[in-house]
Amino acid sequence: MIRRIFRIVFKPPDTPELALAQWNALSRQIPLLYIMLLANTWVLALTHFGRAPRFLTLYIPSTLTVVGIVRTSVWLRGRNAPVSAHQALRALRGPIWIAGTLAVGFTAWSLSLYGYGDAYMQSHVAFYMGVTTIGCMFCLMHVRAAAFLVGVVALLPFSAFFAISGQQTLVAIAINMVLVVAGLGYILVANNSDFAELVASRAEMARRQAEAQRLLTENVRLASTDALTGLPNQRSFELFLTHALAEEAAGGAGVAVAIADIDRFKSINQIFGQLAGDSVIVEMGHRLEKLRRPDSFVARLEGNRFGLVLRGDVTPVALNKTSAMIGHALHKAFDVPAGVIRLSTSLGLAVAEAGDTAAALYDRADYATSVAKREAQGSAVIFGCEHALEIRRVRQMEHLLHTADLEQEIHILLQPQFDISQGQTTGFEVLARWRSPVLGEVSPAEFVPMAERTGQITRITQTILRKALTVTATLPRPLRVSVNLSANDIGSPSAIDGIVSLVREHAGPCRIDFEITETALMRDLAQANQSLLALLGLGARIALDDFGTGHSSLTHVQKLPLHRIKIDRSFVAEVTTDTASRAIIKTVIDLCRNLGISCVFEGIETEEQLDGLIGLGGTVMQGYLFGRPMTPQAALDHLKAEDSYVHSARRDHMMGVAG
Ligand code: C2E
Ligand code: CA
Ligand code: CA
Repeated sequence: MIRRIFRIVFKPPDTPELALAQWNALSRQIPLLYIMLLANTWVLALTHFGRAPRFLTLYIPSTLTVVGIVRTSVWLRGRNAPVSAHQALRALRGPIWIAGTLAVGFTAWSLSLYGYGDAYMQSHVAFYMGVTTIGCMFCLMHVRAAAFLVGVVALLPFSAFFAISGQQTLVAIAINMVLVVAGLGYILVANNSDFAELVASRAEMARRQAEAQRLLTENVRLASTDALTGLPNQRSFELFLTHALAEEAAGGAGVAVAIADIDRFKSINQIFGQLAGDSVIVEMGHRLEKLRRPDSFVARLEGNRFGLVLRGDVTPVALNKTSAMIGHALHKAFDVPAGVIRLSTSLGLAVAEAGDTAAALYDRADYATSVAKREAQGSAVIFGCEHALEIRRVRQMEHLLHTADLEQEIHILLQPQFDISQGQTTGFEVLARWRSPVLGEVSPAEFVPMAERTGQITRITQTILRKALTVTATLPRPLRVSVNLSANDIGSPSAIDGIVSLVREHAGPCRIDFEITETALMRDLAQANQSLLALLGLGARIALDDFGTGHSSLTHVQKLPLHRIKIDRSFVAEVTTDTASRAIIKTVIDLCRNLGISCVFEGIETEEQLDGLIGLGGTVMQGYLFGRPMTPQAALDHLKAEDSYVHSARRDHMMGVAG
């Protein structure tokens, strides 16, 4: 039983939180304890002053006062200092022995006064002992051992002393005190465990809160991090940019945005595999992160796109320097298990203007990136006034095309295709023109991609095809007419249905051919095949346009139901100068011959180019040398002129033979 009581009384706090809480509570109560102790002591000393020796009524209380003041000031000074749980645990042991020693001292002192007083003064000693013991125990309640030690050390000699005094009242006081202190002890133990529970539940709550906070922080981190590269993602990029712009508006450093976009990344995935593509992206992220200055920001925006927020010096000179550094870092080879990859990255930059939003600044950098891609892949373009004008023009053009009367404004020109082996024009390519009442003549190179973007190409193709069909009816048979189809037409079953029904509306055998690019086929090979079959069902023929500029896959040439290949102008331009181009042209001509399909050369401008192509075995030619794109009426005149030229040549020839 005694061992159990000892275990309960002397049990140290079992958690660091409890030790700290007890220490904090005790720190608040210790000064009060000393004030109460000294006040009680001086009141008792005063009632005995003159009756008891000065040694007891003055010197001892004064010494105890000095000790009390020193202890209080030590406590007060240390109260706000940060304490670790370990320190608190150690410090909580101190009060136990100090309290025990002081209790012995005060009890001995008060009992030594007892003999000098009358009955009233003796009652004062009893009162002093009772009140002081209870008060001290209360103040020490958070250090249970100290409270109990005070109770026992003061109570034992005090009750023994009164019990043996034989005085009935004093014996009653002694018994009363024992009961009160025992009750107080019980309350202290109960209070203590309540306090421990409270602290434990508070600690648990704090732990749960900390865990919830950790999860929340982790969530935010995940939501703002790109999983593949570990870099911040688009969301963080937008937040950082918005913040940087706000700082700039408040007089902070200049801001610029750079977007790095890997060129032809799709082909890396196709050739080396998705994993290799991923590791290129990760490595690219590392390289950009390494270049990052402390105040700038790098994020992976999407796919093969990285965004940078640059701050500080954003003059063109500084941006050019940064672009060169980025270009250099990204140009170095990437080692992947399947081999070494070299790639180029197009970079677009834009500098923040007054009142800019993150979205507007991003859009300008994005536009600069698309210009870099369009004009020179692997280069860097800083958004400038010319681009702003271009954007304004495109927007205006988009609006005008949207509201255009296509029947009125779109017209077609025909460019002859001449067959050397037959010595005559065998067909025409239809080239669209937009004559806008506001903008004048707009090139199809401009308005076709725009119409594709804004979803108007289907309507435009229909208009062109309708006009082409009408013109074809006026051309002598067996001339054929080629109409260009956009990737969007090939990829859309409803657009193809529209084309099919338009052609069917016209009587007679189909004399239309369709020109499509490899890029259009590649977007969705299965759908493209379906579309081609539907067109072939009309009796139309299919030409693969711009061969040599896109994927240039000879496998496509063999697998698709093609009737002809159109070799791009860029090869023709090099036929007289570049042996590699000559070799490629020769290979394609031979392949076409083997497959039984025809091969058309585009953009022939000079006799030398023509001679070169004839030398390699080319037969069907198209280009300014044979006729520029012309109106349908001019095309008819062209045919007539050709006819009479052929007739007179034949007549001359025959007369020559006869002569
Ligand atoms: P494309 O299909 O490769 O058309 C050939 C382009 O080269 C035409 O430009 C033509 O005028 C031009 N060209 C022809 N011979 C020569 C030459 O000897 N030298 C030079 N320098 N150029 C020559 P155009 O008419 O400006 O058309 C550009 C592109 O716009 C076309 O390239 C085609 O992709 C697209 N396009 C034109 N009309 C249509 C159309 O009706 N529908 C669709 N979807 N696209 C069209
Ligand atoms: Ca074409
Ligand atoms: Ca072409």
